[in-house]
Amino acid sequence: MEYVADIIVNRPAKQLNRTFIYLLPKGQTRIARGTRVLIPLGTTKEEGIVLRTYVLQERPSYQLKRIQLILDPDKPWFTEEMLGTANRLSHYYLCTYSEALSLFTINKKKTKTYERPKEEWFSASPFCQVEQLPKRKRRQRELLAYLIEKGPQAKSTLLAAGFSRLVINQIRDCLGIIVSERYKDTTTRYSKQFDEGIPLTQEQAQVYEPIQEALNTHQYKPFLLYGVTGSGKTQVYMKAAAQCIRQDKIAIVLVPEIILTNQIVKRFVDHFGDQVVVFHSKITLAERYNNWERLRRKDSHIIIGARSAVFAPTDDIGLIVVDEEHDTSYKQEDMLRYHARQVALWRGEAHQCPVILGSATPSIESYYRAQEGFYTLLRLPHRIHQQPMPKVTLVDMKEELLYGNYSVFSGALVGLLRRTLEKQEQMIILLNRRGYYTFVLCRECGQTITCPHCDVSMVYHKEGAELKCHYCDYHEPVPKVCPHCGSKKIKFFGNGTQKVEEELRRQFPGARVARLDQDVAAHKGRSEDVLEGFSKHQYDILLGTQMVAKGHDFPDVTAVGIVTADSVLNIPLYTASERTFDLLTQCAGRAGRGNKPGQVVIQTYNPLHYAIITSKAQDYEAFYKEEIKVRQSLLYPPVQEMIHMIVRQPNEVKTNALAEKVTTDLLTYIKTWSNLGETIEVFGPYEETVKKVRDLYRMAITIRGSHDKIEKIKEYIYTSWIFTQEGIVIDVDPI
Ligand code: ADP
Ligand code: ZN
Ligand code: ZN
Repeated sequence: MEYVADIIVNRPAKQLNRTFIYLLPKGQTRIARGTRVLIPLGTTKEEGIVLRTYVLQERPSYQLKRIQLILDPDKPWFTEEMLGTANRLSHYYLCTYSEALSLFTINKKKTKTYERPKEEWFSASPFCQVEQLPKRKRRQRELLAYLIEKGPQAKSTLLAAGFSRLVINQIRDCLGIIVSERYKDTTTRYSKQFDEGIPLTQEQAQVYEPIQEALNTHQYKPFLLYGVTGSGKTQVYMKAAAQCIRQDKIAIVLVPEIILTNQIVKRFVDHFGDQVVVFHSKITLAERYNNWERLRRKDSHIIIGARSAVFAPTDDIGLIVVDEEHDTSYKQEDMLRYHARQVALWRGEAHQCPVILGSATPSIESYYRAQEGFYTLLRLPHRIHQQPMPKVTLVDMKEELLYGNYSVFSGALVGLLRRTLEKQEQMIILLNRRGYYTFVLCRECGQTITCPHCDVSMVYHKEGAELKCHYCDYHEPVPKVCPHCGSKKIKFFGNGTQKVEEELRRQFPGARVARLDQDVAAHKGRSEDVLEGFSKHQYDILLGTQMVAKGHDFPDVTAVGIVTADSVLNIPLYTASERTFDLLTQCAGRAGRGNKPGQVVIQTYNPLHYAIITSKAQDYEAFYKEEIKVRQSLLYPPVQEMIHMIVRQPNEVKTNALAEKVTTDLLTYIKTWSNLGETIEVFGPYEETVKKVRDLYRMAITIRGSHDKIEKIKEYIYTSWIFTQEGIVIDVDPI
């Protein structure tokens, strides 16, 4: 009898999207489902995941290979729920099963068993006496006395207590000393115990009640917690997490990019101490395993982290929180394009637990679902400390031009800056373009200088006097003549953060200005330094891109200036208005968080656009009402569902041909449906906004339709040639 296993190869090749049969190691008759194993594949070794083991009835015609090593000897890494969620994810987001599974693993690829780090422990037998050592071995005597007094000790503890390696090694041979190995203790840096915390306000208690109900009855229930900033949402999450700990279940708390949100992380850690493990991209592999071990043994019950923490490999989830659920960083925009909020809902459903989506400016999608009754809407309309919302002034930049002001700053913004500096308070200035001049134009032939690899303008960076491409790594020295016509009349245009920084220094010579953008963040630790310096009021003005807009809580910031509200509004995405409203209200919300009132100036060329008007009033509901009308009339999500496909090829003609082929194929398939209706449409192929990136030409196809129809077309794509074709990116639910 031959015992075999059905195995998924953990390699993201679309051609490997099926199970393979392998013989079990000699003498084995069973391996638990979800266990990772090492298998030979072709000439290499790969990680595989066991789906089932059984007795082979009939030998296949080809030579079966054998599993080489079991990588999870104690307990399978994948639980039934993880396998199920990965399967759901693979069909929903149109990726392979192994791509979906690998999201749940900590390292990309495993080729040996992971051993928990061990360390030596020293203990003295009951009969040990200090006198058994000669007097001249003074340090060894001290160590022995220490062990007799304190009982068994880890080597690291002895080292920390001041005993040298040499002395510790010498005592090994001492009669009655027992050296054993134990798992290294996996304590986190924080040690405070958690207590009940502050009691909830009446408003919070009302909101918490249905959450508690779902926690206690172990029910899947999605909540949309819509509360202005400072209304006490975090406190509600903490209350729910405490209940989860009492139930001995795991709470997953998702936050947007971790550097911006360390405040909430800090609050959880301060309050819950060792109960919290923090996941982010910068922790080491050992720390990741350590965290996972702690969760698995339930030494810790809360995992807090960015997007990927939603895949925490745990089998007993009692609560999932998605803080700032509208934040676009929850969507992974390269490789596998999943949305962490969606995965959170699936896992919550599988574990039968509440999922709290919290936001001051909910995504249109979530608010719509709440309106439709799919989520329970909970509101916290008042701030705990009653600070007023900041006062916002809109400036029409067309009028400024009319009055002869050609500078990037309006009179109102300069006025606000001056007053803020006089009062020795701080100001944040948002400008969504980095670099110095944002494009270079030839006055002779009218052409701009573009990247040779991408179809975008090169940006002048003062540092190194270079032109840089913001889509790839290409950079070149500033040309002396136009590369198109040879003319010397090349001119620089546009204001990037570097230029505005210079402008600020020129106009306000006494002010201390810090800049924060991707160029600064490229230097390790630099953005943390800037933020920390600003929070200590070592700078008066913080100027930067989106990075300055979100999450921060600086009590001395009383003023915010937004140089161009239109930069996001003009991007050709159906979510442009939503993103604008979100950016403006979030950024405005940085002002007046302490006990001094805040003031905001928003500069725009579109003062009549509803996204701008409603963000002036910081009126989310008014914005939602307008925006949902637009979505309804144009049948955009969340009213209908959407799939965006990008065909990318090194050759323009081939790109077009392939895109045509995809479109024709999809249309032909749709024609076979008996009940056609108007509920599905295929647009394209059309050129992507940026036609070429990194030497790949890009054509797009958009599919839009009702949920059922989209499901059906996904099923088709999953089994068609389109799925395995190289160079097609499929983006389900683009945002
Ligand atoms: P949000 O997450 O909605 O921005 P927070 O939970 O951070 O709101 O609360 C805002 C402020 O109010 C914080 O300083 C917090 O400590 C305080 N706070 C929250 N809940 C309470 C409460 N029940 N009693 C007293 N202070 C509270
Ligand atoms: Zn020219
Ligand atoms: Zn480029």
